This record gives sequence, structure tokens and C-alpha cells, in this order.
Amino acid sequence: MASAAAAPVERFAPSPTGLLHLGHAFSAFTAHDAARAAGGRFLLRIEDIDRSRARPEYERAIFEDLAWLGLRWERPVMRQSERMAAYRAALDRLAGNGLLYPCRCTRRDIAAALSAPQEGAPMHGPDGIVYPGTCRHRPLAEAGPEDALRLDMGKAIARLGGPAAVRRLVVEEIGPIHGGAHRLDPDLLVEGVGDVVLARKGLGTSYHLAVVIDDAAQGVTHVTRGEDLFAASFLHRLLQALLDLPVPRWRHHRLIRDAAGRRLAKRCDARAIRRYRAEGATPAEIRALLGLAPAG
Ligand code: GLU
Repeated sequence: MASAAAAPVERFAPSPTGLLHLGHAFSAFTAHDAARAAGGRFLLRIEDIDRSRARPEYERAIFEDLAWLGLRWERPVMRQSERMAAYRAALDRLAGNGLLYPCRCTRRDIAAALSAPQEGAPMHGPDGIVYPGTCRHRPLAEAGPEDALRLDMGKAIARLGGPAAVRRLVVEEIGPIHGGAHRLDPDLLVEGVGDVVLARKGLGTSYHLAVVIDDAAQGVTHVTRGEDLFAASFLHRLLQALLDLPVPRWRHHRLIRDAAGRRLAKRCDARAIRRYRAEGATPAEIRALLGLAPAG
């Protein structure tokens, strides 16, 4: 068994906005199995920053389904809706470094800005279309309740010492798909990620900000997630550098698809764990269905 100091800390971080499906089970089993195998810890975090979509019944269902699958996690469970002060402190720090600006562009404004004749095909990043920078000139002092806060990616790179310094930052991947050390690419960060939203309008944070703050607060050493979030992990690495946070390793896993090859979405209950339960499946059968070895 690994020594206590070196024991890995693994986590599963679902959003209570729908029922857990096979893809979630795969992520949770992968992190849980890795923790078990290495004598490490397994933590759970409820990602409920979007109060309009999070539901207590989904949170209850998460606990029930995970327990039924045979997973055990430490308590208390971290809940992002209780972590607003930590997100605010991080935003204050980034703001103090001059890296944030307010933006109230709608999706439609962004699409209109990008349809100007001189613009090429829009790039898609971890948050969809890369923001064209319309509000970048706005001072933060103007920020009001109608504004989101965006990271000025160009200034963020400069803050870290410029492109050469950013190229020295690495995402260390231990998963089977992208295994190895991947350097950050400053050009890709500007053109393919861009000025992402770090505080959504009315929410006081965003997925990207909350996840890096909380992984650090929970002492997470290994982040297990689907490979659809591979690009997002590079943004997270940049945020960790800007906020001087400890850096985990990443394990991006294959996505679980339905019979037609489509990615499982939360709105589609067809692969919900409860449905398998209701049909009499056992946790061992779910593991087998996912191609995982029997629980040790
Ligand atoms: N909360 C996100 C989800 O439910 C993913 C968490 C993460 O791994 O960063 O898909």
C-alpha cells in the first residue's frame, strides 16, 4: 500500500441535473477502482452551481445509485453551492491581476459578431464558440448583475510570463487514450479556448473556475473524466497556474455510447442506472457491460 502522504485522492463530481447513466458509472468506477488499488481516497463532489437546473431529488438519486453500484465515499460530501466564498476569493485575485472583464453578450450577439464578412469559420472551444472579444475593452468597474466575467486570455498568458512560460506548463495524462505529458499551447489557448466565462451571469462562478478551486481544496491528486473534457483540462491547468494551485494528474476515459454510437446525454434516460436496476440488473452486470473487471 502507498504511504499515507503519497496516497492518491480520486474523485467523482456529478451535477445533480439528471439521473446518473452508464457514462457516469464508468467514470465513478474508474476513479473508485484506482483509489482502491492504490490504497487512496475516493471523494464525491456535488456540482450544483446552477441552482436553476440542480434538483434535490437528483442529488438523492446520485447517492442511492452510487451506493447500489457498490461505491463508498468519504463524508462530508462537498457541495459547490456552499463554496461561493472560495470562488469569489479566486475571482478577486484574478480581478486584482487585471485579468477579468465584464460581458453581457448573448449567444446571438456572439453569433452576429462572428458572421461579419471578414471573420473566418468560428472556432469551438471547451465552452462552445470562441468568444470574439467584443467586450474586452470594458473596465471591470462597470460590471453589474447583467454581466458575466470573462478571463482575458491574452493577458493571462502575459501574466504567467508569456508564451514560452506557458509552453512549459504540462497536463500530465495517465489515461489510456492520450497518455503522456502534454504541453500547453499558447496559440491554441488564444484561438481555440479564448476569453472563457469564469463567472456566469447571476451564478458567481462557472464550471471551469469551481472545478479547479474545489479539486485543490479537496486535495485531489487525480482527475478522472470523459475525454470530451480533454480540451477543458488545458484551461484548468492554466487556471491552476494563475491561482498557484496544486496540479493533479488527469485520466480521460473513453465515452460510453448508445447502440447507435451517440454519446449518452443526461436528458436521455435510456441508459439511466435506475432503469437497469428496475430491470433487475446487478452491479456486477453493470461493470461487465462497461468492460470493467469484477470488483476486487
Ligand atoms: N460535473 C461535471 C459533470 O457532471 C464533470 C466534472 C469534472 O470531471 O470536471 O459532467
